Amino acid sequence: MLIVEGIEKAYKTGGLFSKEKQKILKNVSFECKSGECLGVIGESGSGKSTLGRLLIGIEQPDAGRVLFEGRSVNDRVIRLGSISAVFQDYTSSINPFFTVKQAIIEPIKIKKSTKIEIENRIDYLLNQVGLASSYKEKYPHELSGGQIQRVCIARAIATEPKCILLDEAISSLDVSVQVQILKLLKELKEIYNMSYIFITHDIQAAAYICDRIIIFKNGKIEETVETSDLKNVQSAYARKLLQKLITL
Ligand code: ADP
Ligand code: MG
Repeated sequence: MLIVEGIEKAYKTGGLFSKEKQKILKNVSFECKSGECLGVIGESGSGKSTLGRLLIGIEQPDAGRVLFEGRSVNDRVIRLGSISAVFQDYTSSINPFFTVKQAIIEPIKIKKSTKIEIENRIDYLLNQVGLASSYKEKYPHELSGGQIQRVCIARAIATEPKCILLDEAISSLDVSVQVQILKLLKELKEIYNMSYIFITHDIQAAAYICDRIIIFKNGKIEETVETSDLKNVQSAYARKLLQKLITL
């Protein structure tokens, strides 16, 4: 469904006129199947978020390509409604001047619907992410982090996408809230039969939700493992993370 073929990305380092570039992604290739939850786990600075931006087509690779159902994600028409994203920093993910309703309406507007249809759809989506309809008129500053992230998830599923990119989507939340959101994501994935690309530095969360995990290091895929086989992972970085998991 989502195919990544040999993507490369470098960013300029130094000043405006500097020609030096730092390679962030180096020949990255993998596939995410329909309905699969694919984890990408790696240290901070390893290039995970850069990879995420290329996957959803908001940035272009220097080389290689990202195909969604055979067509490039750089074509806005291809990704509209098919791929959505939830990011770590929920405070900047929603416009502070938008009510919950306005935030969720944003992506639905691209489909032609009547006012009543939209209203019903918002009630339904809020209900699906565990929020009462009365939250519709609230502003982000009136909500907790977990509640805002639920709104972001409602917005992400509003167009019934086939794939959602989750970049450290639970990392800024309290641990007890993280568990609730992970459970919610797992339920929604079954209901909508979506694929997730679950970017995280948290191996415990990845082990809970992912079917398969890519171990990412210095802009490259070090290893890919089935979650059921995680204990046999070879890479030193993953072993170190696993050690932490065992001693928790
Ligand atoms: P991760 O999400 O794994 O922490 P990132 O993809 O955010 O990693 O960043 C990887 C590296 O790329 C970092 O060194 C970061 O400074 C650099 N980087 C990311 N985005 C940009 C950008 N737009 N311009 C220049 N450098 C960037
Ligand atoms: Mg990141």
